[in-house]
Amino acid sequence: MYEQGVIRPPSEASSLLIRVTRNCPWNQCLFCPAYKGVKFSKRTVEEVKKDIDSMADELGGTSGVRTAFLQDADSLILPMDDLIAILDHLQEKFPKIDRITTYARARTLSHKSVDDLKRLKQAGLTRIHTGMESGSEKVLQMIKKGMTPEEVVTGGTHVMEAGIELSEYIMPGVAGRALSEEHAIKTAELLNLIRPHFIRVRTFAMHPQSPMQKMVTEGNFVPLTDDEIVIEIRLLVNHLDSMHSYFSCNDFSLNLLMQVDGFLDEKKESMLKELDAYLSLTKRQRQVYTLLHYSGYGRNPLSVVIDQNVLDQVVPEIEKLERSGGEHGFDEYIRRLKTFQLPQPQTDQWC
Ligand code: SF4
Repeated sequence: MYEQGVIRPPSEASSLLIRVTRNCPWNQCLFCPAYKGVKFSKRTVEEVKKDIDSMADELGGTSGVRTAFLQDADSLILPMDDLIAILDHLQEKFPKIDRITTYARARTLSHKSVDDLKRLKQAGLTRIHTGMESGSEKVLQMIKKGMTPEEVVTGGTHVMEAGIELSEYIMPGVAGRALSEEHAIKTAELLNLIRPHFIRVRTFAMHPQSPMQKMVTEGNFVPLTDDEIVIEIRLLVNHLDSMHSYFSCNDFSLNLLMQVDGFLDEKKESMLKELDAYLSLTKRQRQVYTLLHYSGYGRNPLSVVIDQNVLDQVVPEIEKLERSGGEHGFDEYIRRLKTFQLPQPQTDQWC
């Protein structure tokens, strides 16, 4: 028997999940439902080692396991010696492991020296995933992220200098309408300073139970429409340097244009063209694209929304939503679809 947390990045789907802490030590970000209502605690090295032993007994230490992920939200908050003991034991029991990754908060990373992080790399830590969400101080304060842009840069550059792979997560839409432009530009500025290996896009979706919904009701936050989020992402990409960072929309289905994906130094221009191709569609075509995408349509919908046969089948569905829900009937339907409050419609009936 061993303990595991429920959250890991999509890229760690087949990794061993080693829980070194429980939940999140900060737990205040307004947009994040992940660990609300549960308390943070550190696990002892002995507890974690026992889990690793149980996994090795179950899977066989010489099994083909090649990757592991240390859970939960901020593993680097553990003392250095504890982390190194856990990394050593993990590799002793699973000698074929060649990738060990974890989540860490930027504030925690900013308190680690480059030498500390080099020690962790030496001990086997290969990649850190961290949520910066925004480069704007105003936005970070508004969403209660609990860190400053300076901490984001310090933490990120320390990881890069230590030679550990860095994956920065950003959140288009989370700034709302008032701060959208500042959010895009400041986020690009910080990423240009850090130059991480990966920039992973996690488009914000407002769940009705989210504390941010209260801000909407009180008139302090106006959520962006899908089209406004695409405009924000275009502004961000345009302000990013053509650096060797992998900009990825492809691993998160709430990103409307998942095909905007690739190394910035190779594909920045084609990514901008892809964003422009969407923005140059008619309103109806953009609605069809949006409906197809959030209904789980497998291919890039841009290739079919120009097909009159597809429009003839999907547009009447949109008109029905507008008739029954009024001016915002379609947008409300999409919002509920995105926050998993509705079953996905069958797209194969349309195209
Ligand atoms: S630090 Fe991460 S896990 Fe913790 S509340 Fe914020 S987003 Fe959620």
